[in-house]
Amino acid sequence: MSPLVPRRDDLASLDGYHSPQVPAEVRLNTNESPLPPPLGWPDAFAAEIARVQANRYPDRDASALRSALAELHGVDPAEVFCANGSNEVLQCLLLAFGGPGRAAATFEPTYALHSFIARLTGTPVVSAPRDERFAVDFDAAKSLLAEHSPTLTFLCSPNNPTGNSDPAELVERIVGAAPGLVVVDEAYGQFAPASATELRGLPGADGLVVVRTFSKTWALAAARLGYLLADPVVVQGCESVALPYHVSAYTQAAGLSALRFRDEMEERVAFVGAERRRVAAALAGLDVDAWPSDANFILFRPRSRSAAQVWQGLLDHSVLIRDVSGRPELAGCLRVTIGTAEENDRFLSALKQCLR
Ligand SMILES: *Cc1c(COP(=O)(O)O)cnc(C)c1O
Repeated sequence: MSPLVPRRDDLASLDGYHSPQVPAEVRLNTNESPLPPPLGWPDAFAAEIARVQANRYPDRDASALRSALAELHGVDPAEVFCANGSNEVLQCLLLAFGGPGRAAATFEPTYALHSFIARLTGTPVVSAPRDERFAVDFDAAKSLLAEHSPTLTFLCSPNNPTGNSDPAELVERIVGAAPGLVVVDEAYGQFAPASATELRGLPGADGLVVVRTFSKTWALAAARLGYLLADPVVVQGCESVALPYHVSAYTQAAGLSALRFRDEMEERVAFVGAERRRVAAALAGLDVDAWPSDANFILFRPRSRSAAQVWQGLLDHSVLIRDVSGRPELAGCLRVTIGTAEENDRFLSALKQCLR
């Protein structure tokens, strides 16, 4: 008998979630920070690492990092949970509060990993479509929540890959209508005009969970560090399903040292915002439809070329962006990450040639 066994029946159709890693000089496909961490960070990180006792397990509670994050957001450390990227935060939420016989709600199109990780954890996914501007339609949301009583409702603000953010009133209304936890994925939160963190602590908002990451604005995608802010009961739930010592001492050191460079990070957010406005203005003069963005990327649709044609044409100029056209609601659409000024110029000039 062969020792090989087929995958779990409910996962047989899943292919894994991977953005193609194609070699290119200009990589604008995964929404990372185009700039490396601040100049002073490598030394600060090295100093933290020098204190790590490599033969010992790391601080399981990541106390220093949690305290620093709590201070950043003006909350109690008991309201902070850290993990290996915000994807692991999402996985812990779904393991602890989802599972078979429960449901997770999403509003599509949105970040594909919300429903992907839900399925990995055996959590049925229920979805409602967004409106024509990709905003969450409150009435559609309300009926979805009433019909399925999901234990987890996922918002994404700004929404990946469409770029629009949820107004605070909408998040508040969803929190009021949701029977369970409302998870607001704010991977791009620093770029947006409003944050759900401002709603925490309001009456009736106990179930609000805000998820953030060091992968984007904090320029630490390589470190794999994300966190959530929520009621301590939610934090305890996540801790109960996380593997022991899941956040390494080196990851904790990376995050802790990055938090000493807040001003530099703010400057980067301002820089990326200015470049986004410049790229958006340039796109407005080309033969494409582009959607307004509150994030560090822009969704656009060539009017007289297919997405695949333009994607390949750009790659021929060594510019890699993301083809999101495979999803029915995003037919013909591409997503470009805002890069350095030089990278954005390369993208715009290559795009002009592809559209000619
Ligand atoms: C990039 C991204 C993340 C980040 O995931 P990490 O695991 O923290 O790198 C989370 N949510 C959304 C919506 C994203 O686009």
